[in-house]
Amino acid sequence: MRKMCGVFGVADHAEAANIAYLGMHALQHRGQESAGMVSVDDAGRFYSDRRMGRVGEVFTPEALARLPGRMVIGHVRYSTAGGSGLENAQPFVVSYRHGQVAVGHNGNLTNAEALRDKLEHEGSIFRSTSDTEVIVQLLARAPHPELADRIAWVLPQLEGAFSLVFLAEHELIAARDQNGFRPLCIGRMGEAHVVASESCAFDLLGARVEREVAPGEMVVISRLFSGQTASYALSSRRFQPDVQPPPRRACVFEHVYFARPDSFIDQRSVYQSRLQMGRLLAREHATSADVVIPVPDSGIAAAIGYAQESGIDYALGLVRSHYVGRTFIEPQQSIRHFGVKLKLAPVRAALEGKRVVVVDDSIVRGTTSRKIVKMIREAGAKEVHLRISSPPTTHPCYFGIDTPTRAELLASSHTLEEMRTFVTSDSLAFLSREGLLRAVGASGKADSGFCDACFTGNYPIRLGPGRTGEVERPTLQVVPAS
Ligand code: AMP
Repeated sequence: MRKMCGVFGVADHAEAANIAYLGMHALQHRGQESAGMVSVDDAGRFYSDRRMGRVGEVFTPEALARLPGRMVIGHVRYSTAGGSGLENAQPFVVSYRHGQVAVGHNGNLTNAEALRDKLEHEGSIFRSTSDTEVIVQLLARAPHPELADRIAWVLPQLEGAFSLVFLAEHELIAARDQNGFRPLCIGRMGEAHVVASESCAFDLLGARVEREVAPGEMVVISRLFSGQTASYALSSRRFQPDVQPPPRRACVFEHVYFARPDSFIDQRSVYQSRLQMGRLLAREHATSADVVIPVPDSGIAAAIGYAQESGIDYALGLVRSHYVGRTFIEPQQSIRHFGVKLKLAPVRAALEGKRVVVVDDSIVRGTTSRKIVKMIREAGAKEVHLRISSPPTTHPCYFGIDTPTRAELLASSHTLEEMRTFVTSDSLAFLSREGLLRAVGASGKADSGFCDACFTGNYPIRLGPGRTGEVERPTLQVVPAS
């Protein structure tokens, strides 16, 4: 089951739940289906609240008041229809003979099914369909009394992508997989320690980014008591110290679409990456036009870059309503069908009689682009040239971005011209893979340091049976332009 998520953690703050609320708000774009928080008070008692809905809906002032303590972890989540439901909402909380532990996970484990089969065969009973539950089931079996040692015993058994936050009676632990697929950073807010999927959460809080959690690293924030007084100490260790680390494989799609543009991932500004994608797109695929417009919000930064580089005027050709969720993020097809119109409206005054370049970040199924092109034409545009600031998405992601199967990915079964026909634009062009890697600062390096499997099919780690992404029968019809 694939999912997209954001994680947050805070230790040593008098208003930890309120801080987590704000941090999770800044991470809301990473998942809008469920939100959860677990807190622990000074006596090591656990409090938890997980519900379907967004952070602002789930965590009313009353709900926050029921989460006391100076340490909190939080999670926002979106998943595909099959895996949605409260039983899969995180953080998970479990009780062991050693005490309680809560865990929040961003990413996707590629060997979860194999591990689950083995654990079930040996008698484990699972309560959810989430791959994350494999982690807590393994933790229960770890042959060590200390949580950090137990986690360090579990993590090497996991394959795939994980940026994790754990909370125990007197510890908050953050860990990132050896490839560093999904982002995770730590910071300071006065005396408090904060952990978040993206740095934009720290900016909102006025917290200072200290650094990324390194791939293969576990950061342990421990509460130590001297009499009645508690102090908090941070330590770090590698969870596979004896193993040569694999190359870094940060997700390039975080820069293309998923992360917020005000975030820095692995010291790289997402905004700068997107601006550069737009500039290079303009160099690679110039066209004569009167205006450049973005598909808001996902295409804004790249469209600015395209306009700067091409010298064509930048205009606001589409207005986005912020009062509905992301189209793609609604699990039900019927809602998705309405989504684009609910979300975007054309600005006739900016489009009428114009040759328009429309910039968006990616084409997945192509249905959004098709509706947008139609909308722009109906508003009077003379020509519509679609420019995409990433290469064609040809392969599904198994590392934590929710992409559909190959059958549903327009680019996996259609040529460029067929795609243009499908979206009904006058021209269509994508940024090259070289352009993308250059835009994220990876060009010229022998090893890019990024995972770009969604654009290439080059999966950086072995996938289980049936998950190699072989071409399935296309379900999309090519419809001639009207
Ligand atoms: P479509 O081609 O109709 O499937 O929609 C593509 C649009 O959805 C892109 O322009 C992105 O802004 C957005 N998008 C791309 N990937 C995802 C994803 N994994 N989850 C949600 N939205 C996405």
